[in-house]
Amino acid sequence: MIIHKFGGASLSTIDRIKQTGAIAAEIKEEQVLIVISAMGKTTNALEKVAEAFFNHHKEEALMLFTKIKEHHLTIAKYLLVQTYNETERQLADFFTEIEWLLHDEPVKGFDYYYDQIVCIGELLSSAIVSAYFREEGIPNTWIDVRDILRTDDKFREAAIDWEYSLGKVKNSLLPLLADSPLLITQGFIAATDENESTTLGREGSDYSAAVFANMLDAESVTIWKDVEGVLNADPREFPEATLIPALNYREVIEMAYYGAQVIHPKTIKPLQNKNIPMYVKCFLDPGLPG
Ligand code: ADP
Ligand code: ASP
Ligand code: MG
Repeated sequence: MIIHKFGGASLSTIDRIKQTGAIAAEIKEEQVLIVISAMGKTTNALEKVAEAFFNHHKEEALMLFTKIKEHHLTIAKYLLVQTYNETERQLADFFTEIEWLLHDEPVKGFDYYYDQIVCIGELLSSAIVSAYFREEGIPNTWIDVRDILRTDDKFREAAIDWEYSLGKVKNSLLPLLADSPLLITQGFIAATDENESTTLGREGSDYSAAVFANMLDAESVTIWKDVEGVLNADPREFPEATLIPALNYREVIEMAYYGAQVIHPKTIKPLQNKNIPMYVKCFLDPGLPG
């Protein structure tokens, strides 16, 4: 069993989503779980919707949400042919959930609404990617991660209920692998015992991939980024940054805590606990060693 995670940057344009499909087509392992982030800067855009809603700017919230909706429908239209209609129905269900909420007045705390709204980014992107992969001859099963990963109700920074979630992984997720060796699910999001959506903290999809790796005793996790691998500095700030070919767990935790944004700090512990390697690879040039 191996885990692959595709981040926002790898799903930010139609060409990049196609490239993701090309990478997935080359994965030869028998059992694979793919964890998907929201496309590009969708999470930032959804944060604006949540803020407008909470500040009682209903029209603005609906207008901002409509833009996000149209963007995803346009991408789906470009990528999908045979499965467009069924995917559009799936997306429409997610849209309706949010639109219902936006028509209400806020009566709970901001963080609660944030999670109910922002979680849709990963649901939309994963549904489109799953359908696209099927059309490309990469059979897979789409999973709503909120049926598997349970958290407490500390919205926006929810903590995984490891015992319950592990039970779900064993009893619900593993049996699916027998019929569909490739599962596609969402990073960053989960749900409470009352089926309210939660999020695990910004940039939390790497962490979701690590949580699944731990629970599934995966052989490895590969996260696909827009950089060659882990470098000795952020190349956006220091263009001369160079690749670090390998790091131990302690070193990478240190880097993450001192602010290297390439890996979410919470990601390493679940991997270290089970001695699972993580590869950081470049989706722009998959041949690079990472
Ligand atoms: P995604 O959200 O698509 O998974 P991120 O944007 O979170 O990817 O992470 C990739 C970005 O992290 C790179 O574009 C790079 O600018 C930045 N980065 C910061 N520090 C480092 C580092 N030490 N090595 C590599 N990339 C880094
Ligand atoms: N989409 C979420 C974010 O942008 C989670 C992630 O990409 O890891 O923060
Ligand atoms: Mg990110």
